[in-house]
Amino acid sequence: MTEAERHTYDVVVIGAGGAGLRAAIEARAHGMRTAIICKSLFGKAHTVMAEGGIAASMGNVNSNDNWQVHFRDTMRGGKFLNHFRMAELHAREAPDRVWELETWGALFDRTKDGRISQRNFGGHEYPRLAHVGDRTGLELIRTLQQQVVALQQQDEREFGDPEARIKVFAEHTVTRILKDGSRVAGVFGYARETGRFFTIEAPAVVLATGGIGKSFKVTSNSWEYTGDGHALALLAGAPLMNMEFVQFHPTGMVWPPSVKGILVTESVRGDGGVLRNSEGDRFMFKYIPDVFKSQYAQGPDEADRWYADPDNNRRPPELLPRDEVARAINNEVKEGRGSPHGGVFLDVSTRMPAEEIKRRLPSMHHQFLELADVDITAEPMEVGPTCHYVMGGVAVDPDTAQAEDVPGLYAAGEVAGGMHGSNRLGGNSLSDLLVFGRRAGLHAAEYAGGIGADRPVVGQQAVDAAAEEALRPFGLAEMVEPDGPPEGGGPPENPYTLHTELQQTMNDLVGIIRREPEMREALQRLARLRARAKQAVVEGHRQFNPGWHLALDLRNMLLVSECVARAALTRTESRGGHTRDDFPTMDREWRRKLLICRLAAGAETAEVTPRPNPAMRRDLMELFDAEELQKYLTDEELQHYSSEDA
Ligand code: FAD
Repeated sequence: MTEAERHTYDVVVIGAGGAGLRAAIEARAHGMRTAIICKSLFGKAHTVMAEGGIAASMGNVNSNDNWQVHFRDTMRGGKFLNHFRMAELHAREAPDRVWELETWGALFDRTKDGRISQRNFGGHEYPRLAHVGDRTGLELIRTLQQQVVALQQQDEREFGDPEARIKVFAEHTVTRILKDGSRVAGVFGYARETGRFFTIEAPAVVLATGGIGKSFKVTSNSWEYTGDGHALALLAGAPLMNMEFVQFHPTGMVWPPSVKGILVTESVRGDGGVLRNSEGDRFMFKYIPDVFKSQYAQGPDEADRWYADPDNNRRPPELLPRDEVARAINNEVKEGRGSPHGGVFLDVSTRMPAEEIKRRLPSMHHQFLELADVDITAEPMEVGPTCHYVMGGVAVDPDTAQAEDVPGLYAAGEVAGGMHGSNRLGGNSLSDLLVFGRRAGLHAAEYAGGIGADRPVVGQQAVDAAAEEALRPFGLAEMVEPDGPPEGGGPPENPYTLHTELQQTMNDLVGIIRREPEMREALQRLARLRARAKQAVVEGHRQFNPGWHLALDLRNMLLVSECVARAALTRTESRGGHTRDDFPTMDREWRRKLLICRLAAGAETAEVTPRPNPAMRRDLMELFDAEELQKYLTDEELQHYSSEDA
């Protein structure tokens, strides 16, 4: 029988980024005993790295802004594949979530008349991103953590125990969701420092584990982004959706190699930065797609006038949605007009005085000076696309964040799918975390609170199986010595080698531009890697052993990568974060289909099947003009809407 530390809570939140903390605060506020588990240190979630800001249509800088415009921009950015209800809730509720942060102590940058300042970002019609310089994520996490501490102080006063109703398990990794029949019963995992196992019994679990970027070689994502929540959901029987849509941010650092992929925030372009190729050409004007032609300036004069007079000029094309800019940069480099290190130039030095650059973009100034010896107040940056965000995720109910098919399982933040369709607009993630984090916490609390005496129970068999799975890499190591190769036949494998090969495969074959033969090749390589990962061997003991941690994370990365590759192969069109060289155009029929990944019990790879995309509500449809809808909707759908008119 496995030795594991045992706890009991009402709600378990996996992840202490923006989504997880907001969910936990809500669950606790509704009286639930809540556990927060994070594999990183408390406070070091990915959300901390967010730079540009939180999108919310407060209308502080341009009073024409409102939730309807934000909704419209989000649907356009996602090329109409977003779940309309999620995009609606997000646009409606984001301003309240930002105000709430202020009441909890966040200090945003201000306008001259003292309101929360809002900045321009790609795809947003009006200045919309509430920000704190280019360190917005840090302020968001600081504020939410402060709120958790305030709740703990309350419990200290009431019960003499600060952890009576909310406790953080930092540097703990969850490896399995445990179930009782079809319902969630708790989680199983290990403490990273000691290697000891733990189980937490709880009827409701909120996944808030973030993204999958560590499956790709060039990425802005940090080490935690190994797709754990995506894989945990699949393994528990919940489906994923839209996994073919991976966002490549157009501007990551390209030099020096050790920092390749680190993000260069979109605020650089929002605040006036321009992209040029090796010939000095401001090339984005060549790449404005038809669907956006009427909204973007056709030449530099109009584009430059827009910064001072946005009501009478159209936006610069550097502020097109990310997928468009990333593809344009990719093409410039491919056609031989790239910078010396394989990117293009991003310049603010000729656009703003040095002091203003340092004031508006302090982190970028510091980042380039420290990491690349480049002073961005005097010379341009070299930038290129980097894997940044996954639009795909757990299929959830839009209102409650409840994962499909698994009662008691919820998902919010980057791990959840649907909200961003085929492409996320910058700033829409931080608002997504707050809006759906709150909703997930609320509905998980209601579910757990309503369960009464009928609480699910964690069975010993499930705990033993989870422990056996986690110990497998050590077991193999023991078998290697003295008797040669481990069980299963193949030679022992090094988890680091497998990870490098996985990243190379995804980068080269399922990256920014995709082709059928390459994706087929990727699937073959992934199958071989999966077989080899069973032979992954780690040495040493369970106390802080990064090789062991990686060996366990590989299961998740491989599973999720297969979903990405399989869905990308199935979708024979180009849309948002999914670009097919062999199917270069957007196909209106495909907008009507969502691709769902499921893992049958006992199966090793997920299956991808299409299902209809729910039709948008009529009042929301009316926010767009007919000409624009024709670019996205099929004739049959258009006819349906117009016949309703009659
Ligand atoms: P995270 O903040 O990543 O939190 C995930 C949590 O889950 C962590 O605590 C992690 O330890 C934990 N975890 C993961 N797996 C496990 C496991 N198995 N067991 C236990 N714990 C686990 N978006 C914007 O809207 N505006 C921006 O300006 C912006 N800038 C960005 C800049 C950078 C450099 C990057 C990389 C992203 C940026 N984004 C931005 C995107 C945004 O930061 C992320 O999408 C968002 O923070 C994700 O938040 P989350 O709460 O879903 O996950």
